[in-house]
Amino acid sequence: MSSKTTQSELEQRLLAVADDCRRSFLHSVGTLDTTLAARLSRLPPDEWADDPALAAWPQLQPQLKSLRRADAALCQWQLGLYGLCSDCEAELSHAQLLADPCRQRCDHCEEKYQKAQHASWTL
Ligand SMILES: [Zn+2]
Repeated sequence: MSSKTTQSELEQRLLAVADDCRRSFLHSVGTLDTTLAARLSRLPPDEWADDPALAAWPQLQPQLKSLRRADAALCQWQLGLYGLCSDCEAELSHAQLLADPCRQRCDHCEEKYQKAQHASWTL
């Protein structure tokens, strides 16, 4: 987070990625359940991921995960916490954020998180 230019470049990227993510999510919902897609499109996008009806569609889960990451990153941006690891608060590098604007964790915490996720799947 060095200069203003860098900041707004990242903001643009984040907004573009979140927008793409929301658009493709709504499109996928629309191919499965048009009533649900119509209902979601009337809600604020940051409430979509909480809709319990989405649990009926396992094939949406990977996109739902991306949607939640995008929502979390946007929320962090609003709170002024964007670019900090959500576990240890280490500052993520500009390169890491450009590569994945919705990134939530530093390498170290991401690795721990993935291992924990993996362990819970195999239980
Ligand atoms: Zn961390």
